[in-house]
Amino acid sequence: MTTIDPSIGTDRARAIFDEELAGVASAAALQELRNRWMARSGSWVAAFMDLIARATPDQKKALGRGANELKKHVEVALADREAALSATRRPAGAVDVTLPGRAPRLGCRHPLSLVREEVGAIFSRLGYQVLEGPEIEDDYHNFEALNMPAEHPARDMQDTLYLANPLTPASYAPPTRGLAPRAPQPLTLLRTHTSAMQIRQMERHDPPVRLVAIGPVYRRDNLDLTHTPMFHQVEGLVVGRGITLADLKGTLTSMAAALFGPATRGDESARSGQAPLVRFRPSFFPYTEPSAEVDIRCIRCGGEGCPMCKRTGWLEILGSGMVHPAVFEYVGYDPDEVTGFAFGMGIERVALLKWGVEDIRLFYENDLRFLEQFGR
Ligand SMILES: [Zn+2]
Repeated sequence: MTTIDPSIGTDRARAIFDEELAGVASAAALQELRNRWMARSGSWVAAFMDLIARATPDQKKALGRGANELKKHVEVALADREAALSATRRPAGAVDVTLPGRAPRLGCRHPLSLVREEVGAIFSRLGYQVLEGPEIEDDYHNFEALNMPAEHPARDMQDTLYLANPLTPASYAPPTRGLAPRAPQPLTLLRTHTSAMQIRQMERHDPPVRLVAIGPVYRRDNLDLTHTPMFHQVEGLVVGRGITLADLKGTLTSMAAALFGPATRGDESARSGQAPLVRFRPSFFPYTEPSAEVDIRCIRCGGEGCPMCKRTGWLEILGSGMVHPAVFEYVGYDPDEVTGFAFGMGIERVALLKWGVEDIRLFYENDLRFLEQFGR
């Protein structure tokens, strides 16, 4: 920066100013330049005024004109540059509409929701009503009317969570027909299975009935690889005239094909290109007779035996059977008139098998890296 020296003359000073102005890029630098040239004391203009004050009368006229021209030039140039700088500055609070937008982070559906929706959709297409039902149940609907009266040993198959303080909401109404509970039953437990919805629906509707009930159920289980105290079930019930075991087999075979068939899988495990083979094994449930467990041919090894199917070649997917006549009596249906079948399947179980997940706890740990793998 050139030392302030008015003896170089106003023309030279003006050239220096133009050069210094050209290097100004910010409002702060501009203010600094203004001070250096225009301040009352210690500036170039002030130095020229001093020089004029000390000049002889002959010199004053020429010096004064030059100094005034310089001052005017500096003022105009500073004002122009200030205007130019403020035109490029973004006004406070302004929005730059040319910036790319900030996309909100999209969530994805939970794998268990995907299975729930898929199962619901399969049965909707078959003409079933899809229900949810209360998660807090009374002993009557959860056990007694399903042919498990008090002290029935089958109750021990399901470790039940009872409520410390029984609830009796206004919406609870005792059954309007069929066998009445032996005592007024307050709502006292978290339902251990969705089967309770069979009773609720049959109490309210005459046959035919065709429903699936999907939702959470509760057992007194510790969290481990294959158990959680809360999990999801889908319950199916069909009641009408002439419903036979053949209807049960046909329905569950087509459901297995829809859930696990090759069309639903993109990986090489669909090697056979066929819908999975289904087998029915005799079993026992208090509310069905006869009862059957349903297995599908292992979808990973095709039946050759692998860790997923514990070398058996088969995967158990659900329990089923023909509705026990005693259940019909509880809800006021005539077992000589109607027959029906029922089945219950774990949603977590389907998800574990479908995607080869080995630890059920992953579904509940809310780790997005895991959950995001199952599609939107
Ligand atoms: Zn296998």
